[in-house]
Amino acid sequence: MRKIHFSLFLVLLSFPSQQILAWGKIGHRVVAQVAYDNLTPRARRHIDKVLGPHGIVYYSNWADEIKSDTIYPQSYDWHFQDFDAGLSDSVLIATLTDYPKVGGNLFRAMDSLVALLRQDPSNVDALRFVIHLMGDRFCPMHTAHLDDLGGNRVYLEWFSQPYNLHRVWDDGLIEATRYSYSEYAEYLENHLADQKKVISRMSEADLLRHNYALTNEIYDYYHAWDGNCWHFAYHFTPKMEWQLYASGIRLAMLLNEIYG
Ligand SMILES: [Zn+2]
Repeated sequence: MRKIHFSLFLVLLSFPSQQILAWGKIGHRVVAQVAYDNLTPRARRHIDKVLGPHGIVYYSNWADEIKSDTIYPQSYDWHFQDFDAGLSDSVLIATLTDYPKVGGNLFRAMDSLVALLRQDPSNVDALRFVIHLMGDRFCPMHTAHLDDLGGNRVYLEWFSQPYNLHRVWDDGLIEATRYSYSEYAEYLENHLADQKKVISRMSEADLLRHNYALTNEIYDYYHAWDGNCWHFAYHFTPKMEWQLYASGIRLAMLLNEIYG
């Protein structure tokens, strides 16, 4: 049964702040661990020094945790960049530099924070944000459709729990694997090692095209879906894993460039 009870629908609507956790805690830790394992020794030393004893994995979720705090209230919409459905390739790619005025500020925030970090690599908050937002950038429901708030208004039942399409990608698929973050990072680094070169050669435009195509595939799949969660997981888990791994590799590339 995919449709959820109407009263529950209203309850879910009243909690919009749950909508942008992105990969969830495990996913962001996996991204950070993959990145850390792919840093140069020099970059690793420098980043360890800037972040202090807690380190990169611990701080990978900091940007989500401070969203309800008052220190960076403007960061609420840095975690997503939603798009209209059916964008042409040229319009889609233009958003990388001509930032959209609605649907979030992920691209603008990421570019500004990276520029800050290049100016001052010891800017600890900029580094913590970049570690987190690189993960969000690769979460396909964080570049999803504007009219349903990135899948947050696409309600469904996920293994007998009320969910939405956005949340399935934030944590539903990851948690169904039952891996810890360190087990998952190790598995991905072994399993997807042959993808490292492919990922490192992709341009920003290639990555955005890839993400947007995946987002559209998710919506198409959902519209034809019979509600079988196992089938959903079998179909999309390998794609989710590629996104996590790619996110870690691209984060390592960026940090090696700044700190290496
Ligand atoms: Zn986030």
